[in-house]
Amino acid sequence: LEREAYAARFEEGRTRDGHRVEVAANLGNTAHTADAVERGAEGVGLLRTEFIFMAHAQAPDLDTQVAEYRQAIEALDGRPLVARTLDVGGDKPLPYWPVPQEDNPFLGLRGIRLALTQPEVLETQFRALLTAAVGKPLRIMLPMVKDIAEFRAAKSIFDRLLAEIPENERATDVQLGVMIEVPSCALLAPSLAAEVDFFSIGTNDLTQYTLAIDRGHPELSAQADGLHPAVLRLIQMTVDAAHAQGKWVGVCGELGSDAQAVPVLVGLGVDELSVAARQIPLVKARLREFDLAEARRQAELALAQSTSEAVRDALERC
Ligand code: PEP
Ligand code: MG
Repeated sequence: LEREAYAARFEEGRTRDGHRVEVAANLGNTAHTADAVERGAEGVGLLRTEFIFMAHAQAPDLDTQVAEYRQAIEALDGRPLVARTLDVGGDKPLPYWPVPQEDNPFLGLRGIRLALTQPEVLETQFRALLTAAVGKPLRIMLPMVKDIAEFRAAKSIFDRLLAEIPENERATDVQLGVMIEVPSCALLAPSLAAEVDFFSIGTNDLTQYTLAIDRGHPELSAQADGLHPAVLRLIQMTVDAAHAQGKWVGVCGELGSDAQAVPVLVGLGVDELSVAARQIPLVKARLREFDLAEARRQAELALAQSTSEAVRDALERC
């Protein structure tokens, strides 16, 4: 089966009846982009840019960042890049950007909150991405957003750059979106959907914050299952709000490559799955196993359960 899936890796992501679901790669290293394309990636759905920052002894300057992003964009050869702005703090400290000692780093200065304390860092990153992607499609997303105020604060910096940089020196096919990984954002998705260009659901953090289970906890993390019906409801709210405004929704957390979850996510209306590069052929093969009506039935079934165990049992039996 694996060999068959690999042989068909360059086919577009589609269900058995042809419903389109893009399958993209999660990357932390732009040098791996060509390999992801070779495994069938239809784009990069999550570039974790903090790993680029972590690989340097101090914040990479504009030119260094441009060179990094260009490496991914060139290897993608016109396929879309979704770059996430710096997501540090919490479990991902950056040595040269010290954060005061916190009792609860997962609930502290991290992601977009931290970035907005030094807006010039965010500005340089936006500028580098826009410059590197001249003539190419570019999607940028903001991590750990909790409500529209944080999105607007970042968007005002972004819009200023769009006005400032001549069009022939920057990407023009650009979208600015937010990651849905804090439950407040899923609950308020209609207010966000009106202003963002897209959502990408980070199911790892969304599950952690919905179930109040540390995703890395040695004993509890197995219970942090994104197929929990509470998480699925938040995904449903997110997708419904986005589609009502004509916006697209991806999933870039681990749940996107979970064989039981793939039909459920498609049934909920997710438009793109971004997964580890080695999973791409398998996710595409999984999509070819069911049709959209079946996916919708599985999503309904999952939403009707009350625990993640019950969801997995119910899906197993159908
Ligand atoms: C997520 O939270 O699901 C996600 C994709 O981001 P990260 O795993 O990098 O926190
Ligand atoms: Mg996350």
